[in-house]
Amino acid sequence: AKQQGRSQYQFYSPEINTQLQERLTLENELHGALERNEMLVYYQPLIDLHSGHITAMEALVRWQHPTLGMISPAKFIPIAEANGAIVQIGEWVLRTACAQNRAWQLAGFTPIRISVNLSARQFEQPYLVEVINQILEETGLQASDLELEVTESFLMGDIERSVKTLKQLRELGIWLALDDFGTGYSSLNYLKRFPVNMLKIDRSFVQDVMSNPDSAAVTNAIIALAKSLRLSITAEGVETQEQLDYLRMQGCDEGQGFYFSCPVPADIIAPMLQKTSQQ
Ligand code: C2E
Ligand code: CA
Ligand code: CA
Ligand code: CA
Repeated sequence: AKQQGRSQYQFYSPEINTQLQERLTLENELHGALERNEMLVYYQPLIDLHSGHITAMEALVRWQHPTLGMISPAKFIPIAEANGAIVQIGEWVLRTACAQNRAWQLAGFTPIRISVNLSARQFEQPYLVEVINQILEETGLQASDLELEVTESFLMGDIERSVKTLKQLRELGIWLALDDFGTGYSSLNYLKRFPVNMLKIDRSFVQDVMSNPDSAAVTNAIIALAKSLRLSITAEGVETQEQLDYLRMQGCDEGQGFYFSCPVPADIIAPMLQKTSQQ
């Protein structure tokens, strides 16, 4: 009864109304957004904390709305998940990102991985593996130059099926990363069954690793866990030199965050990449 009272109150709240209206607008306009060329892919580098070299780029989608401006994926991905538009958008991001990585290779840059986020709805698609394989063929990118980021929360839905899909992707030669590690269900029992190659420590731990001993303890434990499972470990959300030094000292392999670069369009990435052979 308490909850019902609350939701009735919220129904008349003008603030909630505005939020609802915005959500409805986004939901209605999401379907045509790809056709109208309003989606963009930004890229953020992942850095090897020992050599300082770029090892990968994470593809992050943006929606350039004609009147509302740049819309964050944190806002529209959940809506796209709910109404199914994510399947088409996710496939477009994959194709765009693979084609971009191939274009960087053809331009003579040292090969790096391109890392693409998969959503729950996409992961459940019966033809996911075929679709990905076809995108690799179309774009000419090798499977070993692609990495897919998945989260525990959606792998935990149907574990047998998740393990099977992950294995098929691994067999193609694609790298697999567990994203936002430490936030989801974190069932260590299942972790060893998921054939993933790396863990990405969630930004929330990295953010206050210098000021909060609990976050430092969780970070250290995740790094130790990754080492003992022989998984590579990436820290997300590295913003300061102190965080970088700390993570490097703890044995973290890779880092990503505003300290190195925020996500940017492809043409801004190119000058950051290294030529394979210097003339
Ligand atoms: P994520 O996969 O955890 O991506 C990392 C997010 O952290 C990105 O936000 C990135 O801009 C942000 N970030 C990176 N470094 C820093 C830092 O140093 N400090 C802070 N404060 N933030 C940092 P973004 O681009 O807004 O994406 C948000 C989320 O939306 C992503 O979180 C991911 O879950 C989802 N997403 C983005 N692109 C896609 C996509 O193509 N497909 C799917 N399914 N999800 C996507
Ligand atoms: Ca990610
Ligand atoms: Ca993440
Ligand atoms: Ca996240």
